[in-house]
Amino acid sequence: MPDPAPEPAPEPAPDPRRAVPRTDQLLADLRLVAATDRLGPGLVKAAVVAAQQRCRAGDLPPDAVADAAVAALPAGASSLRRVVNATGVLVHTNLGRAPLSAAAVEAVGTAAGATDVELDLTTGRRGRRGEGALAALAARVPDAGGVHVVNNGAAALALVTRVLTRGGGAVVIARGELVEIGDGFRIPELLESVGARLREVGTTNRVRVEDYAAAVDDDTAYVLKVHPSNFTVRGFTSSVDVRELAGLGAPVVVDIGSGLLAPHPRLPDEPDATSALRAGAALVTASGDKLLGGPQCGLLLGEAVLVERLRRDPFARALRVDKLTLAALEATLAGPVPPVPAALARDVAGLRQRAAALCAALPPGLAPEVVDSDAAVGGGGAPDVVLPSVAVALPEHLAAPLRSGDPPVVGRVERGRLLLDLLAVAAEEDGDLADAVRRAAGAPG
Ligand SMILES: *Cc1c(COP(=O)(O)O)cnc(C)c1O
Repeated sequence: MPDPAPEPAPEPAPDPRRAVPRTDQLLADLRLVAATDRLGPGLVKAAVVAAQQRCRAGDLPPDAVADAAVAALPAGASSLRRVVNATGVLVHTNLGRAPLSAAAVEAVGTAAGATDVELDLTTGRRGRRGEGALAALAARVPDAGGVHVVNNGAAALALVTRVLTRGGGAVVIARGELVEIGDGFRIPELLESVGARLREVGTTNRVRVEDYAAAVDDDTAYVLKVHPSNFTVRGFTSSVDVRELAGLGAPVVVDIGSGLLAPHPRLPDEPDATSALRAGAALVTASGDKLLGGPQCGLLLGEAVLVERLRRDPFARALRVDKLTLAALEATLAGPVPPVPAALARDVAGLRQRAAALCAALPPGLAPEVVDSDAAVGGGGAPDVVLPSVAVALPEHLAAPLRSGDPPVVGRVERGRLLLDLLAVAAEEDGDLADAVRRAAGAPG
């Protein structure tokens, strides 16, 4: 389009845009200078520009622009926020699975700078990467001859499969264990994506050791047993345990999923690494951020020679964990009990006391009530287990304001009420929870 002919300058009309404070003036505001040090120039500028636009649109008087920009600053340079998990789901995938222990958080902070992750400070020579985390893992599972850590459970399975099937051998797996792990990702497709052929045995509901025996031959790379960690099949069912599989002559790999290192009294049906190894598994794979309660990572435990082969494989480099993960994992394994196992150990009487104290601290107009609640482990395992818990019941309409509060609180809506289940909430968070409810209800926090 051709430029219109320049018009004579109009009479200076009272144009609100003229009054919009300039960006450089606003950025000189001492609060925004300090914020630039903390958040970086991009986020501060974005808050300034947004406030200027509101002023230009007539929604904000010019002298309120700086305050509005300050009020709109994000809390941190990452958009991820701390959330209070009052869902009653201990390992909540959408809430980042396992929250780290304070010790693990501190370890991450320390390792975030320059750190001796691969340097022996005594000799000044290169050290074994992540030695401390690997030693802590080995110490917790003495039955494992070797241990290795990769990015997540799926990566552990991919590494095992890529290395063991390189000669062309097939993976023998029961049809009832062809699991979709979530977000559309499926174990069989994961195995095929690294080049494996599958040899499926049995039916959806039943498989016998004879089925495996008939399938295992010279062409078998390994037998895979996958824990159905997010569903149960009931009725006319049968599966084959690790000990029987181990007698078939091929290496047995057990994907236990949840990362339990030893049997847990509250989760009798959840497989654990120690038991699988004792039953003859050559390798166990697991996630680090489910029931173990650590950072996202994948654990590999098993025969020393096999683990060393996995560790030295070129593909292992593509799945290597960073120093932050190693730091958090070591503190999880060697330090105090992390939040997920701590939550599993909470008793109902203690939860009831906390719920009663919370109710007493809330506006009576909300009619808060202590109620029994069924909590669950979640996507992390033990699909059939109901964990007896206690919740504070509130009017359902508080769900949305609580989610958008600071900190956001996520509860569970059940039969027309909002339940704030306390099993996954640390006792230290109760004060925040009460404040959040008061604010969401419009009462002074
Ligand atoms: C969770 C899970 C996985 C995937 O582990 P990620 O750490 O999420 O990659 C694989 N197998 C089983 C049985 C699982 O439960």
